[in-house]
Amino acid sequence: MDDDEARWRILEAVSAIGSIKQSIENLDGVVNGLTANWYDDNPQLAWKHIRDTLNSFGIIIRKSPERITDLDELSGAEIAWRYNFWECSDPLCTKRHCRECGKHGKYGGGHLCKCQECLTDYDGLVCPKCGREGGTPKA
Ligand SMILES: [Zn+2]
Ligand SMILES: [Zn+2]
Ligand SMILES: [Zn+2]
Repeated sequence: MDDDEARWRILEAVSAIGSIKQSIENLDGVVNGLTANWYDDNPQLAWKHIRDTLNSFGIIIRKSPERITDLDELSGAEIAWRYNFWECSDPLCTKRHCRECGKHGKYGGGHLCKCQECLTDYDGLVCPKCGREGGTPKA
């Protein structure tokens, strides 16, 4: 590769990143719409739709499917929840996720957590503002 080709590739990459950034909300909509409705009922149609969307950004899913053992137990709603709640937005992530804020790690494990009730940042086991214990459902 020479300098010109490297520059050209960088431009192409930045252009792709730019259009992804422009469409972030759009992408959320794609994921949530797909996982909420189509993933369980019509996965093949859902895949076509998401493939076409990704293609328009120049993203191609190359990874060949490996059978994930608990894939069948994962519902569209669960995938959407992981996408929205986990900090990595990766439904296949195998790390542990804080049940309160979705960050990697254990609740109360010392990371900066965010109370889902009053949105206070704290690093202990009980929210100092509203007294909520992390991971307990919103009243
Ligand atoms: Zn993760
Ligand atoms: Zn947390
Ligand atoms: Zn709180």
